[in-house]
Amino acid sequence: MSPSAAPLSVPLHLHTPLLQTRADYSACGKPLLLKMDALQPSGSFKLRGVGLLCQREVAAGAREIFCASGGNAGIAAAYAGRALDVPVTIVVPETTSPEVRRQIAATGADVLVHGAVFDEANAHAIAMAEARDAAYVHPFDHPSLWEGHASLIDEVVEDGAAFDCVITSVGGGGLLAGIVAGLKRNGLSNVPVIAVETEGAASFHASLEAGTHVTLPAITSIANSLGARRVAPHVFDLPNHHPIESVLVSDAQAVQACLKFADAQRVLVEPACGAALAVADVHFELLQGFERPLIEVCGGIGVSLAKLETWRSQFG
Ligand SMILES: *Cc1c(COP(=O)(O)O)cnc(C)c1O
Repeated sequence: MSPSAAPLSVPLHLHTPLLQTRADYSACGKPLLLKMDALQPSGSFKLRGVGLLCQREVAAGAREIFCASGGNAGIAAAYAGRALDVPVTIVVPETTSPEVRRQIAATGADVLVHGAVFDEANAHAIAMAEARDAAYVHPFDHPSLWEGHASLIDEVVEDGAAFDCVITSVGGGGLLAGIVAGLKRNGLSNVPVIAVETEGAASFHASLEAGTHVTLPAITSIANSLGARRVAPHVFDLPNHHPIESVLVSDAQAVQACLKFADAQRVLVEPACGAALAVADVHFELLQGFERPLIEVCGGIGVSLAKLETWRSQFG
């Protein structure tokens, strides 16, 4: 390890602020606790798990890291690699925009374009890592990711905040698995989680409805960070071990929540995060039985003033 590299024993993510809204912020009529992971240096919560996994891989001898992602996991891996002074290659499918490719590169990783869809990029990242004896980082399906994401619950508990439910968005379900793990390790196994997806990216919801582990034929939501066609097997099994309520919001409702959040908190977040924020308005009746909901403000770099403007006119 080079002298400039970050130590492997200190987390790469920040202990993020915990804010509280006014009671009249949302239709549910009670103050909401906001865990501000949008303020992580990589722009999303992903650095928690990806950072821990990369540290473990480097501690185990990895000299190179491969990750497949067209979004925040890639940015987090790029950030972690730079901090640990280990080269990182992010494999993205052809559909990943030039802008995102530039953002990943600017964070310090090599960008390799391979395949028409995520699954092809992912298979290539796995093969490359294997061939070069490098570490491979999955965006949501690894126990170290869940263990890292669980730190967000540790921090809220450490901050002394009382909460009686957690609202989070779900893509492949790594964040959900991390939150459940965090609740468990803090003796809060009775605290329910409200798991939110957008219509058109609802692979978790579809699996629960069908009672079987479903793969969606396609993703039709603008919330691309939620666009896993299939959740991790461990995530499909979670409702058997923890109280989890699965709910949906529309893209329009997610965008509306992003706009309202930007005005109120002066922070931009992706529609993937807006989905969780929307629950306090769209599904306010679900929150009637709770005193103090905690919302994981998962963040995301796939947002800008221009994008919010476009979505505002698209969804009116
Ligand atoms: C990755 C991501 C999600 C979904 O996380 P999963 O672990 O895939 O469920 C939600 N929001 C943002 C901003 C993300 O980057």
